[in-house]
Amino acid sequence: MNVADSSRVASALEQMGYQNTPAPEEADVIILNTCVVRQSAEDKAAGRLSSLKPVKTRRPDVVINLMGCMVGMGSTEALKKRFPYVDVFSPPSDPRPLLDFLQKERIQQAGQERNAWLDGDLVLPLGERGKQVSAFIPIVYGCSHACAYCIIPYKRGGERSRPPAEIMAEARALVHQGVREITLLGQIVDRYGLDQPGYPHLADLLRALSELDGLERIRFLTSHPNWMTTELMDCVAELPKVMPHIEVPNQAGDDEVLANMKRGYTADQYRQLVAELRRRIPGVSIATDIIVGFPGETDEQFQHTYDLLAELRLDVAHLARYSPREGTYSQRRMPDDVPEEEKWRRFRLLEDLQAGIAAEIHRELMGKTVQVLFEFQRGKRWGGRTPNNDLVFIESDDDLRGQTLPVKIHWTGPWSMLGERV
Ligand code: SAH
Repeated sequence: MNVADSSRVASALEQMGYQNTPAPEEADVIILNTCVVRQSAEDKAAGRLSSLKPVKTRRPDVVINLMGCMVGMGSTEALKKRFPYVDVFSPPSDPRPLLDFLQKERIQQAGQERNAWLDGDLVLPLGERGKQVSAFIPIVYGCSHACAYCIIPYKRGGERSRPPAEIMAEARALVHQGVREITLLGQIVDRYGLDQPGYPHLADLLRALSELDGLERIRFLTSHPNWMTTELMDCVAELPKVMPHIEVPNQAGDDEVLANMKRGYTADQYRQLVAELRRRIPGVSIATDIIVGFPGETDEQFQHTYDLLAELRLDVAHLARYSPREGTYSQRRMPDDVPEEEKWRRFRLLEDLQAGIAAEIHRELMGKTVQVLFEFQRGKRWGGRTPNNDLVFIESDDDLRGQTLPVKIHWTGPWSMLGERV
C-alpha cells in the first residue's frame, strides 16, 4: 500500500514540475512514507526521520514531509512537538497536505490548481514509465474489521472502497504506460464494494479489468477468509488473466487464539476454505500470514498453528512475532506475556517448517516449463514471476522486461528457482 501511495505522490509532484533526484540530501522536498504495523517498522521510521534533522538544520529551505501511518488520521499536535523540523504531515494515501503546502509556499505558477492525485491519469512517476512491469492499485482504503492486534484501522481509518470508474481509469492509464500486471490492494480486498450500496464486487471488477487489452496479469491482496466467496474463486478460475494465487492469512491455527484475535473464523473453517480454493482453482498457490506469541498463546496452542501449517502445506507463510501496538484491543486488555526469546523460538520453528514445505513444492517443478513475466534485471540475470507468484531467474543478455516467456526449470530452492528459456 505504501509503495502504491509513494508512487502516486511522486507522480503528483512531477505534475507540479518537480523531478526525482538520486541524492536525497540534495532534494528540495523529502517525503518519508511510514509504516507502524509492528514496533520494528515504527523504530525504523523514527530513526530515518531523526537522520533528516541535520539536513533541515543545514538547509532550512528543504521541505520535510512525514507521511503514512506514523501520522495516522487524527491530530498531529504530538508529532509536531516531537519532530519540530517536519514541515508537513500527511495521513496515509493522502498527499493533499503536501500538495497544498507546496502550492501555497512554493508554486506561484498559474494553472497548477488541479489535484493531480485525484485525476487518475498520470499514476506512474516519469522514471517508471515504460519500465515498470507490475503496478499496484489500491481499491479499498482503510479497514473496519479491528483484529485485536492490528493498528491499521486506527491509522488508515474505516473501510472505503474506491469508485469503480476511478479504478478502471487508473488501470487503463497504467497499461498505456507499459504496465503488464496489476495487483489490486486492500486490507480486506475481498470486501471490495460491500461498504457502498450499488458498487460492483471484486469478482465484477476482475471481469471488467480482464477486458483491458495489453493487460496480461491481474492479482489481488489481501483476502480475509470470511469474505472469500465461491463466486470469487470461480471467477479466478475462469478468467485467464487473473493469476491462481491467493493471499489469505489465517494468523493462527488455534481456535481460542483466533477468537482472542477477533478474526471471526475457526481453524477448521480455514482448513475447509483451503480445500475449497484447491478444488475450485486448479493449481492455485496460497499464501498466509501468521503471528506467533499473541498474548496468552500457550505451547500447546502454538503447536496447533504448527500442525495446521504442516497439514495444509501452503506455498508461502509471512511470519511475524506479536508486537503490541498502542491503542489496539490486545495492547489495552491483554498482557504481552510470551517472552521475546519464546516468540523467536516459535518463529524459527515455523520458518524451518515452511522452508521445507516450499522447497518440496518447488522441487516438483524441476524439468517443467512455466510462464514467467520478466520484471527486473539483477546482474546477469533476469527475474520474474510465474502465475503462482514464484520467483524465477534466467541468464540472458536480451532485454526481457515486460515479456512473458516459457522457462524450463533446472534448479529449485525454497525462495526462488533457476531456469532457461525454452
Ligand atoms: N489487512 C491484511 C494485512 C495486515 S498487516 C490482513 O489482515 O491480513 C500484515 C500482517 O502483519 C498481518 O497479516 C499480520 O500477520 C501482521 N501484523 C499485524 N499487526 C501485527 C502486530 N501487532 N504484531 C505482529 N504482527 C502483526
